[in-house]
Amino acid sequence: MIDLHTHTYASDGDLSPEELLARATDNGVNQLAITDHDTIAGYLSVRHHPLAQQLQLVSGVEISTTWRGMGIHIVGLGFDAEHDAMTACLKQQNQARAERASIILEKLAKAHMPISLGEVEEQTQGRQIGRPHIAAVMVKKGYVNNVNKAFKKYLGAGKIGDVKSGWVTMSEAVEVITASGGIAVVAHPNDYQMTRTKLMTLFDEFQAHGGQAIEVISGRQPRSITEKYAHIARERGFYASVGSDFHRPLSYGCDVGQLSELPSDLLPVWRLYRQAAPTLS
Ligand code: AMP
Ligand code: MN
Ligand code: MN
Ligand code: MN
Repeated sequence: MIDLHTHTYASDGDLSPEELLARATDNGVNQLAITDHDTIAGYLSVRHHPLAQQLQLVSGVEISTTWRGMGIHIVGLGFDAEHDAMTACLKQQNQARAERASIILEKLAKAHMPISLGEVEEQTQGRQIGRPHIAAVMVKKGYVNNVNKAFKKYLGAGKIGDVKSGWVTMSEAVEVITASGGIAVVAHPNDYQMTRTKLMTLFDEFQAHGGQAIEVISGRQPRSITEKYAHIARERGFYASVGSDFHRPLSYGCDVGQLSELPSDLLPVWRLYRQAAPTLS
């Protein structure tokens, strides 16, 4: 079983990187990428862990980008984690996250939901700050009943807390990943609520800048969605990636490694770094 999209508490997941490795191993995963939002701290902390050798831990990250005013997530796989281009990009993204958090808090304050940066920092404990942490404080302070409501009313796409300024552009992210020796992947392509024409334009630009793969399987999804993206991958010569987007154990969520199989005629993305690293079996 292969899972190339997972989160730890280095970003907005609940498990430590060690706990994630253990859970992945228990679930029969033999190749894993930890793809935290705009940070490789979780990956770096376990890359020499014995479990990481057993299950082939691939370097990974999920970069928040903008494209035509929309937020698009680009996953990077198999890059050199020490590469200057990647280091500089993640540093910039980190700064953008901090600045964005302040802007979101200002907007919430104006909407009569004051939250201090200190209250958010209690949630993040020095780790990568994200909207889920702000949502958790909103629940704690009784502004909303649950995290889902916080996104639906205030933080999700098109709402007051959906601040995208500061992110790298989609093409910049693709170029950074490629320059660092990695493979760029469009994450969860079915989540962007775009028209087909717009999605195709996104794929065109992604490919023009060196992007090679899309997530044909993202979490639990109906067969029709898998078929849709399998078709696009075939048509455009994209390699296919698979990932649970696991953040935490939830009865209704997709557990790490619990993915359906890729249609057998597709080119799996792991072929690309097998070529680059022949020692990987
Ligand atoms: P950010 O990285 O700060 O842009 O926050 C985006 C993250 O918020 C996503 O990666 C999800 O993990 C989480 N998220 C998005 N929508 C929801 C939602 N409706 N309920 C809970 N979490 C969400
Ligand atoms: Mn997330
Ligand atoms: Mn994402
Ligand atoms: Mn993700």
